[in-house]
Amino acid sequence: MNPSSQVALVTGANKGIGKAIAEGLAKQGIIVLIGSRNAERGAVAAAELAQEGIVHSLQLDVTDASSIQAAAEHIAAQYGKLDILINNAGTNVSRNKPGVATLEEFREVYETNVFGVVAVTNALLPLLRQAPAARIVNISSLRGSLGAEGAFTGQPSISYSSSKTALNALTVHYARELADTPIKVNAGAPGHVATDFNGHSGTRTPEEGAAIAIHLATLDENGPTGGFFDDKGPIAW
Ligand code: NAP
Repeated sequence: MNPSSQVALVTGANKGIGKAIAEGLAKQGIIVLIGSRNAERGAVAAAELAQEGIVHSLQLDVTDASSIQAAAEHIAAQYGKLDILINNAGTNVSRNKPGVATLEEFREVYETNVFGVVAVTNALLPLLRQAPAARIVNISSLRGSLGAEGAFTGQPSISYSSSKTALNALTVHYARELADTPIKVNAGAPGHVATDFNGHSGTRTPEEGAAIAIHLATLDENGPTGGFFDDKGPIAW
């Protein structure tokens, strides 16, 4: 590997917005690792993106400690650093409202959307610190906002929405913890994107949804940290 090459890991990148983020980063000459809990699906996605740049598949289930550890060891052995971590893997198991959603539902959603992000980020922080100026991007949602217009319209799922609120809080905590390093940590909202996640009901393409993550992943030293953004700018917490 050319020592100046940047290395990025995108979790849940075998399809949807994550795959589009991987494509966008690869097109910029960044070595991209497609995190996929199913190794076969990851390999297929990596092969599909092979013409865009250097793309490799990496088995990674963000809810599985041994999978996370193996992924971190692989990155350490192959590259010795990680320049970009995109915490994109996410799930929404129901559209249940308050008073209906069960603890099992909360646990399942938080396991991926919140605890998975903590586990992956903590496992990879030593490698992110080895990069000259790493970027961490948490893929959040307008649904995670408590104050933005539209955050509570429709039928928001309490488990999903609150998991993204928690993810926003994590973003600020990590940014503060890392404030005396070159590492920047931000949350990005992709908008309503047509993917398997919503039965392709979204109005935006995965490429449009990926744009904010790619922007936050490639911020220069003057860029913000500890913020929550979409394509139009900062979003109310
Ligand atoms: P998607 O097409 O369903 O893709 C979700 C990805 O996450 C898949 O690759 C999935 O893997 C992976 N994943 C789920 N659980 C995982 C786990 N435990 N370990 C590793 N990977 C896991 O959904 P998407 O729309 O691209 O969503 C990507 C992110 O954007 C999510 O965080 C979502 O909350 C956020 N978001 C989406 C929208 C939207 O309108 N689509 C709006 C706001 C925010 P499998 O293929 O194995 O299931």
